[in-house]
Amino acid sequence: MTTIYNFSAGPAVLPKEVLQQAADEMLNWHDSGMSVMEMSHRGPEFMSIIAAAQKDLRELLNVPENYKILFLQGGGLGENAIVPMNLLGRKPQPAVVDFIHTGSWTGKSIKEAQKYAQVNIAASGESSGFTRVPSRDSWKLTQDAAYVHLCTNETIDGIEYQFTPDVTVETNGAPIVADMSSHILSRVIDVSKYGVIFAGAQKNIGPAGLTIVIVRDDLLGHALPICPSAFNWSIVAENDSMYNTPPTYAIYIAGLVFQWLKQQGGIAAMEQKNIGKSALLYAYLDASDFYENRVAKDCRSRMNVPFFLKDETLNTAFLAAAKERGLLQIKGHKSVGGMRASIYNAMPIEGVKALIAFMQEFASAHA
Ligand code: PMP
Repeated sequence: MTTIYNFSAGPAVLPKEVLQQAADEMLNWHDSGMSVMEMSHRGPEFMSIIAAAQKDLRELLNVPENYKILFLQGGGLGENAIVPMNLLGRKPQPAVVDFIHTGSWTGKSIKEAQKYAQVNIAASGESSGFTRVPSRDSWKLTQDAAYVHLCTNETIDGIEYQFTPDVTVETNGAPIVADMSSHILSRVIDVSKYGVIFAGAQKNIGPAGLTIVIVRDDLLGHALPICPSAFNWSIVAENDSMYNTPPTYAIYIAGLVFQWLKQQGGIAAMEQKNIGKSALLYAYLDASDFYENRVAKDCRSRMNVPFFLKDETLNTAFLAAAKERGLLQIKGHKSVGGMRASIYNAMPIEGVKALIAFMQEFASAHA
């Protein structure tokens, strides 16, 4: 049977071991006589699941004690409204938010924030065709912004921050809000450098429907009156993510993924694997005259690798042949075209090697 490798940008591949364990436990979780889906979120069984998930995530990312980890719903796009509604109250209205515009996802965040805040685009990668993160010395930040919004990995454009801005110097003291939806848990980060980190789960964490927010304590308690209670971080934190019914099954799977990550050696070990996988694919692309990646070398994403066939008339044939070989969901996002291989934590290096072998063969056959 053909080995399947799934390169979807999200919802995306999950570790086989996790899916197998979930299958084994589907009908009867730990002799409780219930599926996780059937449990009260306030019962002892699920309370133990969410507590372990939270503890493991804190350990994996080394989240300091003065940060809350919240399990929410609403996705990355939901956070584009939830973040301003929670943070703008720190400043007199209308408050200003600084954005570093790096591509499709900050583009959406900017549009949403404009409903609530005065938006300043402090730097934009648009003139480069979103092929690089604007250099830090080009950022034109405002004096008293409520926060600075970054997307540290642009899933569609395939660019990733390879640095963390310094809050005191580079953001005028404004806290950084980072959309890490597509690279959280893929590399070691220093959480203390951020005010808020948010991520939709459906790439590196688990199933869609769960959104993780990590927020520093002093940023709580400033929500605008219009903020829905279920998205008010202070209320959610006071209720241990149980103000409303949380996405219980998604939290359970995320918890299994966190355990799997610990078994893999944690985030530092994962990061080394991700460096290896992405370096292999970029090296092949750079050496090829059949394919190309257009992102500046120092801004390339380790998670999402967009590439183009130089002869784009071959795109359909390429995708069909890839699918035949068990290499799934490689089509690029419709806004940029071409191809995209998303190589999240759960993608083994064998998958990247299989993709490269196929690309080599396809190139030789069509040279
Ligand atoms: N931010 C980033 C970086 C993303 O990749 C995505 C989803 N691809 C989103 C936000 C939006 O997430 P959701 O669809 O969960 O709202």
